[in-house]
Amino acid sequence: MAVHSYWAHVFLLPKSVIEGIERICRSFLWYGTSFSSKPGPIKWEDVCKRKKEGGLSFRNLGLWNTATLGRHVWAISTKQDNLWIKWVHSVYIKNQNWWEYQPPDDASWSWKRICAVKDELKHRGLQQQVGRMQKYSASQIYWLLAGEERSVVWSEVVWNRFNRPKHGFCAWLCMAHRLKTKDRLHTMGICQNLTCLLCGSDDENHKHLFFECQFSRCLLQDIKGWFGISNQTTDLHQVIRKFQRSSASKIQRRTFYAAICALIYMIWKHRNDVFWQNQQISIDVISKQIRQMVVSRIQVLNLKKVRVRDQFWLNSMCN
Ligand SMILES: [Zn+2]
Repeated sequence: MAVHSYWAHVFLLPKSVIEGIERICRSFLWYGTSFSSKPGPIKWEDVCKRKKEGGLSFRNLGLWNTATLGRHVWAISTKQDNLWIKWVHSVYIKNQNWWEYQPPDDASWSWKRICAVKDELKHRGLQQQVGRMQKYSASQIYWLLAGEERSVVWSEVVWNRFNRPKHGFCAWLCMAHRLKTKDRLHTMGICQNLTCLLCGSDDENHKHLFFECQFSRCLLQDIKGWFGISNQTTDLHQVIRKFQRSSASKIQRRTFYAAICALIYMIWKHRNDVFWQNQQISIDVISKQIRQMVVSRIQVLNLKKVRVRDQFWLNSMCN
């Protein structure tokens, strides 16, 4: 991502090149290869949303290229003191208003592209912001172009440094309802038997697995009990919201979120182990594994400047 962001900063990239690079990034993210014709579980536009909006904050290369080229638009608009700016003003723009200017038919491809970026910024209502900038910020213009959407309640659960990365990634897919549960496989024509592999008494779908299923519900109650939570809520978003509203400290919140992500990961892993290897493990063993994973992760983080109250709480959780 950094490499293509860099080149988008330096060159005017044709649309076909931008699409080609995005195809490689998409394929690498979902399948670990440079080329795959299969679509990913989450749309690329959604992957490029901010983390607080449910994405991965990846750059949309087309928008990023527009934002970086905006630097030239800004430099011309504010008449920066350099030779190229003086040249375009005397050869192309002359005494015309830059924001109204249209390039002649015989102008070069790159000049037409800069003019197109100028028109796009104007069309998106960013003319004044660009013109007022003392120093150009491509990042600021990028996020203005990307627009803002509603934040999701679970972003701080998934993007939490107390999580192991693979737990956070699995929880991200779960929160977006994109794990390939049996009901989804059935609509793809892959799976005929919809029975849940964990309880065997109902159909497997996202809502059932997280956490209407008797097996996963017991695990959730067990983990909630570890944090001293006694309510019977099984709705994942409500569980998160209730904890967010509690008087828990930042460290307590992060630890709880790490446990929720580890729980989601372990339920999904166990479901896959049953599916592929017919390997059944008891609730007690999985619960123990979740606690161990959370505790070992916190120990690896080697937290500093922890308040006495939190340290006491962490010790009680680790023992
Ligand atoms: Zn079940």
